Parts: sequence; structure tokens; C-alpha cells
Amino acid sequence: MATGWGSLLQDEKQLQALAQEAVDRALAEGVLLRTSQQPSCSDVVSYAPFTLFPSLVPSALIEQAYAVQMDFNLLVDAVSQNAAFLEQTLASTIRRDDFTARLFDIHKQVLKEGVAQTVFLGLNRSDYMFQHNADGPPALKQIEINTISASFGGLTSRTPAVHRHVLSVLNKNQEAARILSNEPCKGLALGIAKAWELYGSANALVLLIAQEKERNIFDQRAIENELLARNIHVIRRRFEDVSEKGSLDSDRRLFMDGQEVAVVYFRDGYMPSQYSVQNWEARLLLERSRAVKCPDIATQLAGTKKVQQELSRRGVLERLLPGQPEAVARLRATFAGLYSLDMGEEGDQAVAKALAAPQRFVLKPQREGGGNNLYGEEMVEALERLKDSEERASYILMEKIEPKPFDSCLLRPGSPIRVVQCISELGIFGVYVRHGQTYVMNKHVGHLLRTKAIEHADGGVAAGVAVLDNPYPV
Ligand code: ADP
Ligand code: MG
Repeated sequence: MATGWGSLLQDEKQLQALAQEAVDRALAEGVLLRTSQQPSCSDVVSYAPFTLFPSLVPSALIEQAYAVQMDFNLLVDAVSQNAAFLEQTLASTIRRDDFTARLFDIHKQVLKEGVAQTVFLGLNRSDYMFQHNADGPPALKQIEINTISASFGGLTSRTPAVHRHVLSVLNKNQEAARILSNEPCKGLALGIAKAWELYGSANALVLLIAQEKERNIFDQRAIENELLARNIHVIRRRFEDVSEKGSLDSDRRLFMDGQEVAVVYFRDGYMPSQYSVQNWEARLLLERSRAVKCPDIATQLAGTKKVQQELSRRGVLERLLPGQPEAVARLRATFAGLYSLDMGEEGDQAVAKALAAPQRFVLKPQREGGGNNLYGEEMVEALERLKDSEERASYILMEKIEPKPFDSCLLRPGSPIRVVQCISELGIFGVYVRHGQTYVMNKHVGHLLRTKAIEHADGGVAAGVAVLDNPYPV
């Protein structure tokens, strides 16, 4: 094995034995997923895929990503409160993208009725890759920001112990000690707890909107457990349950099964396939309520790829964050090239650029959850088909980030150990709570490193492509 760590191993036999120890430790720590065969209400589990060793990441990049997280929190929140900006930015997209249009519709309805919610909670994760640079250090470039259902804060809190274990087995105790402590699940729970407290009703609950089939339930349970330890009770319900048993009183307080809800935490509702007619109605009911939604519909819209692209336009950050030139500079430094595909000259130029050098770009629709972006030949085909149609405005074009690949050893349940060329994606978890116009909390609460083989252009851990990892700061 050609990685730095691999040279610590004598032979294949030692690798197999070490991998087995790592897997056992992962199981013992609770780095778990339900299996794809039994994804719901099952006690059959396996470990979440992970790298045998932590991956080397320059500390400067980790520090930069942490340092810009509070700025991203404020930026997302500023966008969510700027109805005119959202309307203008998403206008061309919602004409052609039904999903974004429906979300936007709910946003408009809530604004029209008047927002009952007074406490706002953001739990997000900003994701980056490290652009390789032949003549200098790599650069931190944002892939996207997740403002709804940002996951793996729970499981990744359990992985430092696994990697420390692996290095300790190899008598690398100093190295083991350098693996960063990381407990996003505590920080995420703290944000929910703060919002719950500000809502101000001692008997109210947290309602976690869950999917019926949820392989990643232990990630969510980690946060639930933290809340219960603070005596805050969480109930898990589906959208269907909300439409059957949810209601609002005359003050638009939300009740579920007769119990008041202080905070609604969405771990569902970010993809079109997750909504039936009934589910859309349930979402509207939740949004109209006084309960703290994490995220509210405006904050979900603030996380769309179209918004990301417009934020990179000259002067936009300055307008959204007036009087904060340092924050603006930190944010802008992480932006890759982002291009509008709206009809008109600017969009035509972007199409031409992508067709002339397809390997340098990614075509992105307004979707979350992995596996939706188009690269290479597929991107060219799509652009040829879309280039004269208004439908192209439902996509954005993004510069493709090219990290320097490295060898890593990937462990997956039921698969042989694979040593392959990989790249990583670093996510930073951010939490903010706003009460009226006052920020009560604005912080970063931990990180997530995911690593995947270079043969996969797209997709995260849940999509079965990337695996959990830890940064080893160098
Ligand atoms: P999603 O909302 O589906 O997670 P992302 O924008 O995060 O969408 O893209 C999914 C994956 O595709 C990322 O995790 C990353 O591996 C890859 N990807 C996305 N954008 C780029 C880019 N500009 N350069 C290189 N890879 C990218
Ligand atoms: Mg992503």
C-alpha cells in the first residue's frame, strides 16, 4: 500500500488483521447504519463505511474552513430574511423547476400570512474540496452548503476513536493523539436546545421529521440522545403522521398527537421524491406554525445551488453583508467559478465555455442528496439538449474542483479491502440561533471528512460512494 500510513504495515496479513480491529472498534463505538436489506425498524445493523487510516489535510485549510463558518451562518440567515433577493434569484429557476417552485410557493404563502415564528435555528454544513495547485499550496473551495438535513454529525463524532485505535495498534501514539477531537452532535443538539429554550414552553417537544426507511438513523439518534440528556424530549414522525395528527391552534402553536411542538427538525423533505400531495400539505402546516423550523422554508431556499451561484456575482455579498468587508473577503476566497445558465448572453457564454472544455465543469440541477450532477459526456449531451430552452435556467454551471488524489484504504461491509486513489471533501458544521433580530448563538461545532475513490464523480456516504474519514492535520 502506497500511502504514508501503509508503509507501517509489513504485509497483507497485517493489513487484514488491522482492518478487522478497526471494524470491531467502529461497531463498538456505534459507527452504524441499518442495512439496505432492512432499512426500517430493524435491529440488523452494520458499520458505516470508513477509511482504515485518517487522511492528511493541511491544517491551514482546516483552520480556514473553520474561520469562515460563522460568516456562512450569517450569510445563509441574511439570504433567508431577504425575500426580494430570494424572489429575484429564483425567478428563472422556479419557472422550470417544479420542486423549487413548490418550496417557493410555501415561502410566499407564509410571508403573506405573516411569519409566526420568532426564534430561528440554522444547523448547516458547508462542504469543501482542496483544489490542487501545481505552483503552490492547495486552495479551499466550497462545493455547496447544506441548510437542510445536513447529516453525519452524529456518526462522525464516533470516528476519531476508531482512527486513534488503529494508530495505537501500530504503536503510533503521538500520531493518534493528533487526530482532532470532534463532536458535532453535541453542538447541533446545543443549537436545538437553545431554540427549544427560547421558544419558552417547558412541556413542548422537538419533532424530528423522519423518513420511513432510514438507514442513517443512528446519526440522528446521537442528537436525540444529547437532547434527552438535557431533558428535552424528541418524537420522530413522518410527514404522513403530521398530516393526520398535526394541528395549529389560534396562535398557530403546533400540536402533534396533542402535544405542543417547540422545534421541528427536518431529516426529510429535501428531495422531490419525499413529497406526496399529502406531504406538501403537512410541510405547509409546519411552516405556518409558530414552532422553530430547522430549517424554515426560506433557509432551505437559501441553500439552493442557484442561490450559491448568485452569491458569487460581483457585489452581491457586499449587499447582503453591509459593513463587513472582512467576512466578505473570507467568504469569497472559498468560492469556485459559478455561472448562471439563465437565457441571455451571459448564459450563452457559460454554455459555450462548458462545451469547449467539458472536463473543467460540473452541471448542477437544484437537487440535494447526491447523484444528480452531470459531468463530462453526460454534461455535454444535456447542454446540447438544453442550450436553446428555458429549462437550462433550472441548472447552474460550476467549475470542477480537482484535488490531488492520494491512496487510501476503504472498508465497506461485505466487500474486500480496497486500496484506491481517492479525494476528500471536508464539511464544517455551523449552528446559529436568532431571537427576533438578536443572535443568541453563532458558531462552528465540528467537521466531517468524507473520502471517495476518484472513479466516482458524484455522491456522498448515504449514496454509497464516499466513506467516513478523519483529517490528520499536517
Ligand atoms: P448534493 O446536494 O447532491 O450533495 P453537491 O453539490 O454536494 O450536491 O455535489 C455532490 C458531489 O459531487 C460532491 O460531494 C462532490 O463529490 C461532487 N462535486 C460537486 N461539485 C463539484 C465540483 N465543483 N467539483 C468537483 N466535484 C464536485
Ligand atoms: Mg453535497
